Amino acid sequence: MLTLDRVELADIHNPEALVRAIYAQKPDMPIPIPIEKIVLANDIKKVERLGDAPEFVGMLVTDETKSYGQIWVGRDMRPTRQRFTIAHEFGHFLLPHHKQMNYQCSSKDINQGEKGGTPEAEREWEANRFAAELMLPKPQFVKRLGKVAAPCLSHVQRLSTTFDMSVEATARRYLDLAGFPCCMVFSKDGIVTKHPAKSPDFTHWLCVSLNQKVPTISTAAIQGDGLDDFNEIAADEWLATDNRHVPDRIQEQTLYQEDGYAITMLWIEDTGFDEDE
Ligand SMILES: [Zn+2]
Repeated sequence: MLTLDRVELADIHNPEALVRAIYAQKPDMPIPIPIEKIVLANDIKKVERLGDAPEFVGMLVTDETKSYGQIWVGRDMRPTRQRFTIAHEFGHFLLPHHKQMNYQCSSKDINQGEKGGTPEAEREWEANRFAAELMLPKPQFVKRLGKVAAPCLSHVQRLSTTFDMSVEATARRYLDLAGFPCCMVFSKDGIVTKHPAKSPDFTHWLCVSLNQKVPTISTAAIQGDGLDDFNEIAADEWLATDNRHVPDRIQEQTLYQEDGYAITMLWIEDTGFDEDE
């Protein structure tokens, strides 16, 4: 049974705490998370696929007391993206301070990776945190990652299959949970398509930002196939050096996807000694 005791969840405003409370009720949730079954067991009457709606990719309609709801998702999105979007809408449904009776979420909303400047942007960010935590739950993610000595995008590929989530969503979660100082650059045909995502202990700033070209000597600049080996290049190709201490070299690894899309992981290998000594 996937039915939750919603009364117990009704006052939890923090997305991560809400998901923890859900897993406390359902500790044996199957992996990959059966999101559609979960929402249908919890007062969402219907999940419908919708085409030709360029202004939104996900929508929730509910009543004032959230006694029921209905979810629409864009049917042209990949199935993994649809799964994340359903979880995002379910977040709007369960988070008590998300009070609108109609959420129409654009692709930008589903990508809202930070608090943002408006209350609306903050709600979208919260719904994304809820979806990431629900679909890629921390304890299961860490357990299935296992003990690894160094980061590798093969872990991301493997976990994305395990959890039936997109490589991008899994890569973002990997940064948060794997414990390596890494950064992910998302590109298409050598142009950066999204704000680079960093792990909490990756303290450097990139010298390449949104809509700019990746460094010409980087593996991100070429059209490859599948998962590349690690490549070591001068760190200042990627990192901003103005008044900052940066290492000399940086490791990069690129995963080539379809249609020119690529994810490049940057990793500063801990050499085990302090250069200042
Ligand atoms: Zn939303």
